[in-house]
Amino acid sequence: MKIISDIQDLRDQLRGQNRAVFIPTMGNLHEGHLSLMRLARQHGDPVIASIFVNRLQFGPNEDFDKYPRTFEADVEKLEKEGVYVLFAPTEKDLYPEPQEYRVEPPQNLGKILEGEFRPGFFEGVCTVVLKLFSCVQPKVAVFGKKDYQQLMVIRQMCRQLALPVDIVPAETIRAEDGLALSSRNGYLSAEERSEAVQLIQTLKEIQEKVLQGKLTSADILKIEKDACAKLNARGWVPDYISVRKRNDLLSANDADLSSNQPLVVLAAAKLGKTRLIDNLEI
Ligand code: AMP
Repeated sequence: MKIISDIQDLRDQLRGQNRAVFIPTMGNLHEGHLSLMRLARQHGDPVIASIFVNRLQFGPNEDFDKYPRTFEADVEKLEKEGVYVLFAPTEKDLYPEPQEYRVEPPQNLGKILEGEFRPGFFEGVCTVVLKLFSCVQPKVAVFGKKDYQQLMVIRQMCRQLALPVDIVPAETIRAEDGLALSSRNGYLSAEERSEAVQLIQTLKEIQEKVLQGKLTSADILKIEKDACAKLNARGWVPDYISVRKRNDLLSANDADLSSNQPLVVLAAAKLGKTRLIDNLEI
């Protein structure tokens, strides 16, 4: 595997490749990331991964400085997955001057859910992903459904900017008890780690309730509120637990519910100092 940090070196290395498949990451790789590498192989060749902890997408009080950086272990894992090039730019490589041109997603997608609680997050994500796409020029890129709204934001960006990149979604990889794998799980104490499973448990309970019966939008609101209260009573601080339509991530009205629009339930909640997100299609 070639490890490249300079944009020009990357372009030289990839010249003439027109089926490249790309998986951007922030490193601290786990089985979730590696599943993306395996899926990528089925969609193109060669496989290009990147590791870059993108300052632009972190808020001032978020965990940019303490985000886990495990470069050597990550390199070993990517070697085993047959990745051809790892693009690992420094901040100076990717942002040699202040990044003043930014990509701002539309309010109705970029400022809801994660966007409401993490101002500037999707702007940071879109800006770096567009820039990484410009460096790598992939035919295909793989993103995890673990970050459901992010996947949607990126897809829409590609569509509206006519970027010649196909976005392939990858299923969420979970620990045996159901907790979605995440680099941030490493922040959890042993006690918090066993409690953390309650997040997906709560989403499963909501999924069951929604599937069981003919619900109105008022019923859904009550289910969401009760779920927040339940987690709250166990010591969590939920940002949101929300049932949304899969196609636009807006709430479902009674007509949507009675016409069986495909739904997804999304959640973000803090357990101690760690903020976890998860989602489940209904
Ligand atoms: P990150 O390093 O957190 O920016 O994630 C890089 C990519 O891996 C994103 O497309 C994530 O959605 C994806 N990802 C993270 N965790 C998982 C997981 N548990 N299962 C599948 N994909 C994941």
